Amino acid sequence: MDHTHFFAASYTQARAKFIHAVQSVNGALTSYPHPDQKGPNGELLSIDVAHVGDVAAEKQLILISGTHGLEGYAGSAAQIAWLTLGSAAKLPAGVGVLLIHGLNPYGFAHFSRTTENNVDLNRNFVDHDQAHPANPDYDQLHPHLKAEDWGWEFLDAMAAAETHYRSEHGADALFNARVKGQYNHPDGLFYGGQAREWSNLTLQRIIEEHLAPARQIALIDWHTGLGQYGEPFFLCFSPDHSAEYQQAVAWWGEHRISNARPHGLSRPNYSGLVFHGVSRFIGDRPLVGAVIEFGTREIAMNKVQPLDQWLRFRAPRNTEGFDLLQLDLRDAYVPFSQEWRIGALRQSVEITEQAVVGLATRNDRP
Ligand SMILES: [Zn+2]
Repeated sequence: MDHTHFFAASYTQARAKFIHAVQSVNGALTSYPHPDQKGPNGELLSIDVAHVGDVAAEKQLILISGTHGLEGYAGSAAQIAWLTLGSAAKLPAGVGVLLIHGLNPYGFAHFSRTTENNVDLNRNFVDHDQAHPANPDYDQLHPHLKAEDWGWEFLDAMAAAETHYRSEHGADALFNARVKGQYNHPDGLFYGGQAREWSNLTLQRIIEEHLAPARQIALIDWHTGLGQYGEPFFLCFSPDHSAEYQQAVAWWGEHRISNARPHGLSRPNYSGLVFHGVSRFIGDRPLVGAVIEFGTREIAMNKVQPLDQWLRFRAPRNTEGFDLLQLDLRDAYVPFSQEWRIGALRQSVEITEQAVVGLATRNDRP
């Protein structure tokens, strides 16, 4: 089996491979075209949703790719690999799987982690009618994370500012300030927005249209960039030791769910996650699940994150330099290494199967 069967080089190719894989298992497809955004060459952008197995069953597993745009090249491959190699065509009775492909299709197509509004979709699921969570430490760091010119002078200055911050507040506080989410700098990193993104609104619509009969719902939101190179890294957001948390432990193992420390640091106090949004959209029905990452450059991701906004807002386009830096950004999130890709595929199919079996054999009532 060749990994190029599952990975794609463009959003449009990923979408075509996904649709083909869904058709090969006779899944039901629904597309949610983006109303006003296109790909870099004018291509259609849409969130594509496949429902396989018993679509009216009480037990439903949601698999999401592309919450963070360009990370979707890995999440899409995980979805296509499960459709092709997993139990999609022979699901146990009473279980359905809802695959949401390219939740942030703009970022997916344009090789950016963020949406058409530079919003980090995984910080956007807050109540925008309330005051947004404050992040004064990010406010302080922001000027050092925004490249006016890309080069090692910028990287050195950012590293110096971070060393200074770390010496005063510690490495955990630096990581938290950087990534937990901020709502004041629309051109910054991990910006959660001022209103619900189209992808946020559409996710609610998808869940309402497909999961009305569901009573037990599970979620895997595929990501990349956290954890050890090539290894899965789990972030479970169910309250510690709740029934949902215990289910995640039973499916995937205590060692993966408990005390997960990204890059050896304390877990940031994230706001506005997709996990929070899905929990709200399904109301009082329990949600078992996790954000599952595949590690890439580990803590050195800090150095590449501002490249996304540099390429979006300030880099001269149509130059060789732009192309080279964009390849670096893509490789940082979804390494071109086939060893990495084959390992991620194998593990993602196994992890998805663990959730399917866990959900199928779960017999507690909500
Ligand atoms: Zn991500």
